[in-house]
Amino acid sequence: MHIYGPVPSRRLGFSLGIDIIPFKTCTLDCIYCQLGPTTQKTIRRREFFSPSEILSQIKKKLSSGQRIDYITFSGSGEPTLNLVLGQLIREIKKITSVPVAVLTNGTLLTRKNVRKVLMPADLVVPSLDAATQDIFHKINRPYKSLKVKEIINSLSQFRQEFKGSIWLEVMLAKGVNDSLTHIKKLKKAISKIKPDKIQLNTVIRPPAEWFARPLNIKELKKIKNLLEKNCEIIAEFDKKEQIPLSENLEDVILTMIQRRPVTLTDISASLGKHKNEILKYLNFLLKEGKIRPVSHKGLKYYEPS
Ligand code: SF4
Repeated sequence: MHIYGPVPSRRLGFSLGIDIIPFKTCTLDCIYCQLGPTTQKTIRRREFFSPSEILSQIKKKLSSGQRIDYITFSGSGEPTLNLVLGQLIREIKKITSVPVAVLTNGTLLTRKNVRKVLMPADLVVPSLDAATQDIFHKINRPYKSLKVKEIINSLSQFRQEFKGSIWLEVMLAKGVNDSLTHIKKLKKAISKIKPDKIQLNTVIRPPAEWFARPLNIKELKKIKNLLEKNCEIIAEFDKKEQIPLSENLEDVILTMIQRRPVTLTDISASLGKHKNEILKYLNFLLKEGKIRPVSHKGLKYYEPS
């Protein structure tokens, strides 16, 4: 299963998620990752799955008549690790006018061929949480050869080459990358990159590591004011801001959790739904205070509050 949704997203409207990476295959192992720890940390690009199979799933969904505002490459790991990403974007552009977005951690944009792959996309949302190598290691725990300075330079290069929109996401974790000194360095890096928007986020969803903690709204606003005018806070503190999901599926998941503690993988396998789609519902139930995450033998379970 390579597609999920369309799921409602505050930033992208109804977004059809495309997942072309095996679960938690990534160039980073971010302490805040809501998918849990990275199991395959790599910078080697591979095909992973057959592009024709992925395209046929997308075509089928597009012909279903459901509202789709964006086709979004995101999912279980870093999408630019897939060698056929460029081919897929080009093929999608041939069959639909729905805009294509790519959510990426930006680490492979140091390679010219990877930047080229993203050219036909309409929107690229790279993330940048660190401006120094030291903080890059603390928050993103990168593959050993990755250098944040080179990544910042390549994001600036990409800005000059790419004609679409760039929304830069910055994830802030308390006591890790939120010091005034570091924010000033991030500001300098961002001024080189010149994104169309800067989107500030914090660790609202259950993170991979317990020590990844959120900033409060006051702290985020202070940082927003220190950054550029085109900076906005996207962390969803207020549950009223959430676009309603399918109540039926929400109830089914809640009933499952009330029966016994279950993991994300358990729910996804039992309902035949993609993990990212299930996460949307889990986050909603967490925000409503109906469930809570608990750790047991290294696995994250959800149980009633
Ligand atoms: S880049 Fe994304 S998928 Fe990879 S570890 Fe960080 S948050 Fe998780």
